[in-house]
Amino acid sequence: MPIRQLSETMINQIAAGEVIERPASVAKELVENALDAGASRVEVATGGGGLSLVRVVDDGAGIPAGELALAVSRHCTSKLSTDIHDIRSLGFRGEALPSIGSVSRLAIRSRTADADAAAEISVEGGDVSAIRPAAANRGTSVEVRDLFFATPARLKFMKGERAESSAITDVVKRIAIAFPAVRFTLSGTDRSTLDLPANEASPHGQLARIAQVMGSDFPDNAIAVDAGRDGVGLTGYISIPSYNRANALQQYAYVNGRPVRDKLIAGAIRGAYADVLPRDRHAVTVLFLALDPALVDVNVHPAKSDVRFRDPGLVRGLIVGALRQALAAAGIRSATTGAA
Ligand code: ADP
Ligand code: MG
Repeated sequence: MPIRQLSETMINQIAAGEVIERPASVAKELVENALDAGASRVEVATGGGGLSLVRVVDDGAGIPAGELALAVSRHCTSKLSTDIHDIRSLGFRGEALPSIGSVSRLAIRSRTADADAAAEISVEGGDVSAIRPAAANRGTSVEVRDLFFATPARLKFMKGERAESSAITDVVKRIAIAFPAVRFTLSGTDRSTLDLPANEASPHGQLARIAQVMGSDFPDNAIAVDAGRDGVGLTGYISIPSYNRANALQQYAYVNGRPVRDKLIAGAIRGAYADVLPRDRHAVTVLFLALDPALVDVNVHPAKSDVRFRDPGLVRGLIVGALRQALAAAGIRSATTGAA
């Protein structure tokens, strides 16, 4: 066979294989877009564990009617200007919407502040519609139906409705911690619903959001962390050793406001608690790292949850030192150095 260029739809479906693993990935990408648009309210609705429906409605800046076609085109983004080392938004790759549109039935309705009316575009398994006028308030509504109908092989790998629903809940909770001043709601056909009212943008509001997500008993069992070294800031809350879990799922970490899953951070937390927690128990933590975007690479994987630090030793040392110091300041001593 001669060499040919893949069709646009196939290119997007290949990208979707990496970006859109399951319904929770759709929820994550759409919520990120709402937050990048400066929304103060983000409403997530799901059906069938997100496989039949994921809808995210926001009151953010909106998309001008003339840009709707670009929004669903590959490599088109309003966020990344010229420098891959200076990423300040959650999105930057310009591939979530085209990827989603290639494997589902996607409808976007949006209205900017200065537009007289809303406009709508839809994409079905990669086929893009014309732009239609629509009625809506300022902001954007993105509706994804029948996820993976166009890629049945992927559909087969989905776990049950409940597992997918709980993954969506986890995505919303995780990101909501980093945006305490934004109101988040999650409603589904099952019982997993969330309503996280907006808090003031302050350390007090931050702690209030953490309590909304993690439970009101967490702050009573947590110690504040506030440290910094060589341009890297670390703030957050860590549990006292007696408040621990059988797994590390309640260890939330953020780099410049982006939720990340990072082995280095997890290892540093384990190291800090090594003397005060048994090996099979895990602290509950919320940690925010703040550093110059040039010192961290978020362009590691299409899902944007992995990061690489320019100076991993500095970050690890900062976390281990700050956590140990916070535990010691709270009067918590390891078994070898004396009782708590
Ligand atoms: P990225 O987020 O990497 O830019 P996406 O495919 O997720 O790529 O979105 C493409 C573009 O569509 C964004 O850059 C943004 O301009 C626009 N967009 C998507 N969702 C929203 C939204 N909820 N509100 C405003 N603009 C949006
Ligand atoms: Mg995006």
